[in-house]
Amino acid sequence: MKYATLLLIGLLLATALLSEAQKQAGKTKNKSKQALLKAEPCSAAKCKLPECRCSDAILPRPKFKGKEHEIPQFVTITFDDAVNAVNYAQYELLFDGLSNPDGCAATGTFFLSHEYTDYVRVNALYNAGHEIALHSVTHGDGTDYWRDADVETIEREFGAQLQMLETFAKVNAKHVQGIRLPFLQISGNNSFEAVKNLGLTYDSSWPTQQHKEPAMWPYTLDYLSIQDCQIGPCPDAALPGVWVNPMVTWTDTEGYSCSMIDACAYPPADDVDALFEWMLENFNRHYKGNRAPFGMYLHAAWFARGRNYFAAFKKFMHHLSTYPDVYMTGVSRMLEYVKKPVLGQPFKSCEKKPNTSCQPVHCNVQKVSTGETRYMSVCDKCPIVYPWLDNPLGQDM
Ligand SMILES: [Zn+2]
Repeated sequence: MKYATLLLIGLLLATALLSEAQKQAGKTKNKSKQALLKAEPCSAAKCKLPECRCSDAILPRPKFKGKEHEIPQFVTITFDDAVNAVNYAQYELLFDGLSNPDGCAATGTFFLSHEYTDYVRVNALYNAGHEIALHSVTHGDGTDYWRDADVETIEREFGAQLQMLETFAKVNAKHVQGIRLPFLQISGNNSFEAVKNLGLTYDSSWPTQQHKEPAMWPYTLDYLSIQDCQIGPCPDAALPGVWVNPMVTWTDTEGYSCSMIDACAYPPADDVDALFEWMLENFNRHYKGNRAPFGMYLHAAWFARGRNYFAAFKKFMHHLSTYPDVYMTGVSRMLEYVKKPVLGQPFKSCEKKPNTSCQPVHCNVQKVSTGETRYMSVCDKCPIVYPWLDNPLGQDM
C-alpha cells in the first residue's frame, strides 16, 4: 500500500474512534442532554391554562376585563438566605396572628441557603404553614459562578439543598417547588432546565422593569417570553411547564427600579409613616391596576438598616390584612390560583398544615474544606461532618 493510502486509513480510523468516544461521553452524561428547542412566540390559542400561560397575558383570564377589582390581590412576601435564631424571631413577630380574608393564615416563602441555617427553625416555619424553597447550598462565589453554571451544577446545588431540608428539617420534598438563584443570576436556559429536571415548579429570580404597569403575571416557558432581560443570559428555549414568577420591581423615591426592597438605592427616610406610605404606593400600582401578584422580596438584614424599618414593615402587613380581597401567601400557593383563576375568593379551603415531628439536636461538626467547627441545629440526629455540596448529609466519607 502506498504511504498516502495508509495515512488515509489511519485518519478514518481515528475519526471513527473519536466519534464513538464522544457518543459514549454523551450517554454517560445527564439524560436531559437532548437539545432544547427554540421557543416560538406565544399565542392564547396554543397555550392554555392550567398547564400553559403566555407572558403577555395581562389578566388571569381575558373575560376578567372590566372586573379587575374582583380579582383577588396576592401579596408574596419572601425572605432569602439562612434562617437563624435572630431572623426567625422577626418572622414570627411579623406573621403572628395575621390571617387572610378566607380565614387561612397569612404565610410567606423562605428561599433558603444552607450555610448557618438553623434547620430546627426551618421545621418550625414549615409546620406553621410557610413555604420552604431553595436558594442553593453554597450561595456561590459571586455572580460569575451562577452565570456560567451548567445544568448539572445548578441541579447539584439545589438538589443537595433539597436533601438537606428533608433530612435535617423534616420538610417533605413534595412541598418544595421553587428556587431563587443567588444574586438573581440566572444562566440562560440552564437554570430553568434544572428546575424541570429536579421536578420543581417555578423560578423566582428574574426581575422586570418594563412590565410593572400593568404588572406582569407569572407565566410558563412553553413559548418565548416577552420579559425584559435585566440580568442575562435569559432563556430562549421552549421549557414546557416551567413557571416564571417574575420579580416585578418596585420604584424608589428617586424613580429607580429595584427588584428587591433592600436593593432600592433611595428608600424614604427612616420613619414609620414615610416607609409605610412608600410601600403603599408600590402596592397600589398592582391593587389599583391589573392585580398582578405584588412581591415583597427582601432579606431580614434590611430590618437592621434603620430603627423604624421593622415597625414599618409590620404596620404595612397589618394594613394588608384589613383588606377584604388581599391574600398573603407563599409563591406556590399563588401559582395554584394563577393556574385556575376565579373572581372573588381564590380558594375553597385552606392549605393543610404539615405536622412533622422534630427532636431538636445541637451539633458541633467540622467543615471539612476549612477545618472550622460549625455549630448546627437539626432535627433528630447530628451529621458526622458539616454537610456540603459533595456530602449533603454530612456522612462519614
Ligand atoms: Zn442570597
